[in-house]
Amino acid sequence: MPEAQVSEWENAISDRRDLLRESRHLEGASPQKILRWAAESFGRKLALSVSFGGAEGMVLLDMLSRITDRARVFTLDTGFLFEETVRFREEAMKRYPLELEVVGPEMSIEEQVEKYGERMRSCNPDLCCQVRKVEPQRKFLKNYDAWATGIRRDQTSQRANTPVVEWDDFFGVFKISPLAGWSAAQVMEYVREHDVPLNPLLSQGYKSIGCAPQTRPVAPGEDERAGRWPGSEKTECGIHVVNGRVVRANP
Ligand code: SF4
Repeated sequence: MPEAQVSEWENAISDRRDLLRESRHLEGASPQKILRWAAESFGRKLALSVSFGGAEGMVLLDMLSRITDRARVFTLDTGFLFEETVRFREEAMKRYPLELEVVGPEMSIEEQVEKYGERMRSCNPDLCCQVRKVEPQRKFLKNYDAWATGIRRDQTSQRANTPVVEWDDFFGVFKISPLAGWSAAQVMEYVREHDVPLNPLLSQGYKSIGCAPQTRPVAPGEDERAGRWPGSEKTECGIHVVNGRVVRANP
């Protein structure tokens, strides 16, 4: 590697360390304070991920739109979303000043089925998620320095150690989780207090909403993510880390 490139790389690593050190004081801070820090640190290079399925993304969208109009909002549209989610997304964004980018896969569902076979229409989760979520997000985030996401530690055991700010090696950006320390009850309290709009499916028994073929309503008392990938051991699409490492399929 040429010397100039080595020193650029070393500077980037040292800047990254400084920022991570600086972010330590955010552990235990309010989500608004964490988002304000992220908006000030990354400006237009901050992207907020909103699925328009769960309440968490909507809460962060509401909070961030009160802090800045410079950050970008993005959503992954796999082509398998519920119609309700797509309609809700369009309606909800009329209320917020932030710009939304709908990020989709390069392949249509038909092209995907042609390339990988019929199983990909009814979902071969790991590979399908890789093609329709992970790779599009990786491509999108190449133009950003940080992404904010609505995951909470108490959602699943795999998310229990989520830091508020971390370096995401796979996507090559900082990952900010302002709601890491919040409970579902705190999220819903914010929704009520600020009249945040929610996906209508949430009032029909769904608790975590992703792609239609892989999402079912959950029964009272069931884990809130039990309705995702029902009948399989899968609990994550590969966008977030599982047990300290990323589990992704090779397309
Ligand atoms: S959740 Fe299912 S349909 Fe959606 S991208 Fe993943 S595997 Fe494909």
